Amino acid sequence: MSIHDRTSGDLATALVRFDAAPGDPYRPTATPIYQTATFEQPTATAFGQYDYTRTANPTRDVLNEQLAALEGGVRALTYTSGMAALNAVCELVEAGGHVLAGDDLYGGTWRLLSRVLPRRGVSVSYADATDPERFAAAFRPETRLVLLETPTNPLQRIVDVRAIAALTRAHGALLAVDNTVMSPYLQRPLDLGADVVIHSATKALCGHGDVMAGAAVVRDPAVGDELAFLQNATGNGLAPFDCYLLLRGTRTLAARIDRAQRTTHALADWLVSHPAVTAVHYVGRPEHPGYTLHHGQADGAGALLAFETGAVGVSAAVVEQTRLFTTAVSFGSVAASISLPCAMSHASIPAEVRAERALPEDLVRVSVGLEALEDLIADLDRALNAAAGTVRAAG
Ligand SMILES: *Cc1c(COP(=O)(O)O)cnc(C)c1O
Repeated sequence: MSIHDRTSGDLATALVRFDAAPGDPYRPTATPIYQTATFEQPTATAFGQYDYTRTANPTRDVLNEQLAALEGGVRALTYTSGMAALNAVCELVEAGGHVLAGDDLYGGTWRLLSRVLPRRGVSVSYADATDPERFAAAFRPETRLVLLETPTNPLQRIVDVRAIAALTRAHGALLAVDNTVMSPYLQRPLDLGADVVIHSATKALCGHGDVMAGAAVVRDPAVGDELAFLQNATGNGLAPFDCYLLLRGTRTLAARIDRAQRTTHALADWLVSHPAVTAVHYVGRPEHPGYTLHHGQADGAGALLAFETGAVGVSAAVVEQTRLFTTAVSFGSVAASISLPCAMSHASIPAEVRAERALPEDLVRVSVGLEALEDLIADLDRALNAAAGTVRAAG
């Protein structure tokens, strides 16, 4: 039974069946790109529905409506990147306020919180959100916002969203969950008690690696109004063409995730028994410590996994020697990618902080795409054997 009032089946349908062009007399089945900066007003004193694209645009509104529906929120706003969305949510906190964040976060989020928020007089601290009791002790009277990811990337630590939501509510703060790794197809944090869901829509929501975008979805209309005020005031709304591309990408979300997730399960099973692999991190494996918690709040394990080889040199060689996996930061695209998080996506976190958080330097992250499983296995097998052999020969 689903904990949600909507099953994944309904969501698969909602992804493709929605009003693509509300109010349009021609009834197009794809959303038109309203590539205009401004809109003619009916009179000198009366405003029409739209006046200026920084404030609102019909293409963006269709996307926003759709994202709000998928996450089960009352309103969604879309931004020029995931970082812009995260920053906008942090702007809800005024000077003197405190942001409490989980201690395993995307590198760019760590940079925003640690190096930008303090300039605005907002204090930030981190605590292990996988341990609600310890996390509870980290709240301060001035805590206004709690920010976390689950599963975390790349280590896939699992946070009990319901437990942290109850704590956050008791302290009168807002809980924001970065749902980038799961997407609404697999996890809907608002249903679990979160107040705000944040996305780097650059990843799975877009799914084709051709748009930078971010989103914030809220449960409370007043928070939505405040975010809309901030978006109009600061000018970080997603451009119409990018809205169109993102909306188009979301239509295939279910099909892409179903297939990539199936491949990821099989790839994880194969990696576990590979002699050159010392550890596999995938929440779809029953021995994963967060398996039960995760599957009590999400509908699947997704298409990201990470593994270790025991040596940074071997891991770097694996990343370089794969041919089918693009060496690239980012994930969630139709094409598989591979990276060394400590040298790439998480390099903005200082080495001593990475060590404190037990992020292994030899960790390899894999984002699985729509390639054939046999091809991915063959490529990875060749790279692993070559890398292990090369380093053994050199060392
Ligand atoms: C990529 C990413 C971001 C940042 O999003 P951009 O679109 O790159 O700005 C934030 N959070 C998570 C979990 C991410 O993976």
